[in-house]
Amino acid sequence: MNALLNADLHCHSVVSDGTLTPEALAERAQANGVELWALTDHDEVGGQHRARAAAQAQGMKYLTGTEISVTFAGQTVHIVGLGFDPDNVALVEGLRRTRGGRGERAQEMSEGLAKVGIRGAYEGALKYVGNPELISRTHFARFLVESGVCKDTPEVFRKYLTEGKPGFVPHRWARLQDAVQWITGAGGMAVIAHPARYGFTPNEEYALITEFMAHGGRGIEVVTGSHSAQEAQRYAQTALEFGLAASRGSDFHSPDESHTDLGTLPWLPGQLTPVWELLADRIQ
Ligand code: AMP
Ligand code: MN
Ligand code: MN
Ligand code: MN
Repeated sequence: MNALLNADLHCHSVVSDGTLTPEALAERAQANGVELWALTDHDEVGGQHRARAAAQAQGMKYLTGTEISVTFAGQTVHIVGLGFDPDNVALVEGLRRTRGGRGERAQEMSEGLAKVGIRGAYEGALKYVGNPELISRTHFARFLVESGVCKDTPEVFRKYLTEGKPGFVPHRWARLQDAVQWITGAGGMAVIAHPARYGFTPNEEYALITEFMAHGGRGIEVVTGSHSAQEAQRYAQTALEFGLAASRGSDFHSPDESHTDLGTLPWLPGQLTPVWELLADRIQ
């Protein structure tokens, strides 16, 4: 399998902060020409068996997936896991611990929003939650759009949910080494998600990549819905420099919110090693 494969290895369902079920996502992916698919819910593998069955029913190849929230150098970084055993006990338990604390954080976010006159945000956000253990900023954003406080979710994040804003609550997620070890220990590959999103200095980024690789991480997202064409080119170079395999995924969350639909990304640059080449024996 080469770089010209319509692989979409990053998206979210109602099991985390997406709005579609795993089955509806599989159908949409297939309709958009996806050949190899992975559902990567935040800090959760609860949708994996459904997603794999739905992919196979649609005639698509499947890789198991998740996207783990990590705190690295005081910042939140996302690590995608692909091709692991979704029933691995250490992984399932590690993700359960990572999800813990989201409820309390959400209550604090709601208190912060109440101080600027936005009442009932916790209850409001809960109405959009598909998985009670996975209340996220995205659910608050949907509530603030629906109630007319903001026109769209990017505006909510800009005004209310990012560092220094009234609904932002700092949180400690998993450690980088734990996230990588949970994934690799379950037979999968760890991949740095959307590296351009972090706004790291070159030194910070170097530290992230070298530590990630020292713990056994082997991949990086190059073509993603979160990167411009220029950023994709830049991280293609990074993948070559560090000898990392390259991944491709839309990060699709919702037909109403996401600007990149499943399976509608540019191809991976040809000189890179696609993650699916190294994961060939994990594809189902
Ligand atoms: P949480 O894990 O609760 O901190 O929520 C993080 C999620 O919020 C991400 O996975 C995205 O889905 C969403 N998100 C983060 N930043 C933005 C943004 N600027 N605009 C829209 N959605 C965002
Ligand atoms: Mn998300
Ligand atoms: Mn992410
Ligand atoms: Mn994502």
